[in-house]
Amino acid sequence: MIKALFLDRDGIINEDKGYIYKAEQVTFTEGIFRFMKTAASLGFELFVVTNQSGLARGMYQQADVLELHKLMNKELEKEDISIRKFYICPHHPSLTGRCECRKPE
Ligand SMILES: [Zn+2]
Repeated sequence: MIKALFLDRDGIINEDKGYIYKAEQVTFTEGIFRFMKTAASLGFELFVVTNQSGLARGMYQQADVLELHKLMNKELEKEDISIRKFYICPHHPSLTGRCECRKPE
């Protein structure tokens, strides 16, 4: 059994500027590195869970999100922080119908 910490992305790890999909839009929030390192030092595996309705809206593509997460991971690795997995909900209830992967589900 592992201990897991599930973190939202926009507004928690990076400042929420709305529909972020490019590396230059990412500003890591103050204190997030220290927080993640502390959690990791206490034995928590770190996971990111993010609703990306911009995908359902056609504002950007899945490949953009995956590339962004790769670049975010690179920055986090420089801080000795490792994300075990990013979970993405690409849906929006009014556009694609209900799904089971959208937070808070
Ligand atoms: Zn979903």
